[in-house]
Amino acid sequence: MEEQNRKRKIKFNKRIIRRNILIVGIIILICIIIKFIIPKKKTNSNTNTIEVAKVSKTNIQEKDNTTSKEQLDWKLTLVNQSNKLPENYEMKLLSIDEYRKFDSRAIKYLQDMIEDMREDGVRNIWVQSSYRSVEEQTTVYNNKVQYYKEQGKTEKEAKRLTEQIINKPGYSEHNLGLAVDFNYVNGTFEETKAFAWLKENAEKYGFILRYPKEKENITKVTYEPWHWRYVGKENAKKINELGMCLEEYVEYIK
Ligand SMILES: [Zn+2]
Repeated sequence: MEEQNRKRKIKFNKRIIRRNILIVGIIILICIIIKFIIPKKKTNSNTNTIEVAKVSKTNIQEKDNTTSKEQLDWKLTLVNQSNKLPENYEMKLLSIDEYRKFDSRAIKYLQDMIEDMREDGVRNIWVQSSYRSVEEQTTVYNNKVQYYKEQGKTEKEAKRLTEQIINKPGYSEHNLGLAVDFNYVNGTFEETKAFAWLKENAEKYGFILRYPKEKENITKVTYEPWHWRYVGKENAKKINELGMCLEEYVEYIK
């Protein structure tokens, strides 16, 4: 009987021990939950923050890359009849004189070019037109359309004729701030000393004759000896060596 009691007591003790172990287990589990899972939630938000930080850092890095890519590419931005000035295209303009502005990144080369040209004895040179805002382009464009309409042309015909000489607003290289028209903006410029000098030297300053006679079918712009475009020295040299126009070159280096 006593033996039975002892056994029962042991069994009871064992049950208590098991229960205690279970309680301790539960407590430990709760502790683990409190210690790891709840803070983990917090850490999660920390991680999120870090991740956000990382993302924005990556963004910055990407932006940096884009910026450096842009720094390479802005010189070759193609604006023509089928390529509109990119949305949000950013440029900083600096004044050439009271009325005319040029891209701040390229203005030095334009000024150096003109200065050196003058030093070489080409006195008869001036910038007729450089940067044109899209609004200004709209005015120039509309005036020309109006001019043709007054000559009895239909709207469609007037636009067609206008677009042979003036690009649609947003489709003009002048909207980029990297193009310059010299002197009287007409065919006689080809006969000038200035033109001869430019043909010889402009590439050294990063400028190219943008609408050559033999590329009319590609540029879709009638030969313009007065219109010069900044593309950077390296590009200008290569473009001339390859005998390409900007459209061809941009395609070529893709
Ligand atoms: Zn022009």
